[in-house]
Amino acid sequence: MRRPKPSTAPTPVVAVPDAVASAPGKKPTSADKPARGKKPATSKVQGKKPTGGQPLASGVNTQAKDGLHPRSRHHGQYDFARLIADSPALARFVITTKYGNPSIDFANPAAVKALNQALLRTHYGISDWDIPVGYLCPPIPGRADYLHHLADLLAEVNDGKIPRGPKISVLDVGVGASAIYPLIGHREYGWHFVGTDCDADALASAQRIIKANQGLGTAITLRRQRSPQTLFAGVVQTDEHFDISVCNPPFHASAAEAAAGSTRKWHHLGKHAAARGGTPVLNFGGKDGELWCEGGEVGFITRMIGESRQTPGLCLWFTSLVSKESSVPMIVRALQAAHVRERRVIDLSHGQKRSRIVAWTFLDERQRRDWRGVRWQ
Ligand code: SAH
Repeated sequence: MRRPKPSTAPTPVVAVPDAVASAPGKKPTSADKPARGKKPATSKVQGKKPTGGQPLASGVNTQAKDGLHPRSRHHGQYDFARLIADSPALARFVITTKYGNPSIDFANPAAVKALNQALLRTHYGISDWDIPVGYLCPPIPGRADYLHHLADLLAEVNDGKIPRGPKISVLDVGVGASAIYPLIGHREYGWHFVGTDCDADALASAQRIIKANQGLGTAITLRRQRSPQTLFAGVVQTDEHFDISVCNPPFHASAAEAAAGSTRKWHHLGKHAAARGGTPVLNFGGKDGELWCEGGEVGFITRMIGESRQTPGLCLWFTSLVSKESSVPMIVRALQAAHVRERRVIDLSHGQKRSRIVAWTFLDERQRRDWRGVRWQ
């Protein structure tokens, strides 16, 4: 196995064109489940069904009462007064729930986008964020939680102290049009991100966001993956290293399954296509490449595990979100077959939504300490 080498400034293997197809004023067509009525936000944006259950392997037990990570900026109800003070455009979407609390209609994509824009501005200093029509509108609290758990994982090899700053390099596989993980991860921890995607329009959108907000140009690098079946080859260099990888894989195994998922989600929100003038429910669920891939999330993550085995020193920790609990045993089997040194399944629960992060490393404890010594000092 390769020993960790000193960090080298990553150079894009495949550069993203500078010209950006911006999509001003366009609406996303997916929405979050009611986040702040009485119930906390859930993460049903991606047609990913909430599933119950406990992690198979021991995880880090760092959840607050509402299920969110203790460092989350989103505990309790959204502070609409504060959000609107920073982002007045949110005001017209605010409704009062039957419990008498301010909220928004989570079935209205324009409202969800306005909430996201407000949250990103107030909590993460991102003042200009937008995504093209049809792309997923990511629920902010859940995405932030994933990053807090990654920080905990890195802190384990750093005497409990979260390593911060641009020397920490994160690989985001499938950065998406929203660039959500790099935005939050950089603003929370100062980390440097390389975001990959095979969707050129998604990358163009992410690039527009990076350009529109000060200080992101050096913090986030985007790279185009030309082969949808490949996760690392073609976008990382042979001698390149990342401290951790992050990924929210396409969940479904086919377009038809994705459509059924969107329909279910729509019904969960108490809406019917007819009620919105026959709006196709598919529009609600995001772009094809965001929703499905060959083999669904198990296929995607299994391919990632296989590739990571070929490049075990690429990342100190490899990670991915796993939406469905029933996917976990198959993923664990793939990790066993790949002879990973250690694996974790970290439970993420928020309201009724449960998902989990699977994390694995090929490095033993000594190699992890060496990694820190070489890269983080
Ligand atoms: N990270 C974003 C988007 C997730 S959707 C979020 O959490 O909201 C999944 C993304 O993975 C899509 O943008 C899709 O285009 C991308 N994708 C699919 N296959 C990929 C591959 N082989 N390499 C990189 N990205 C891929």
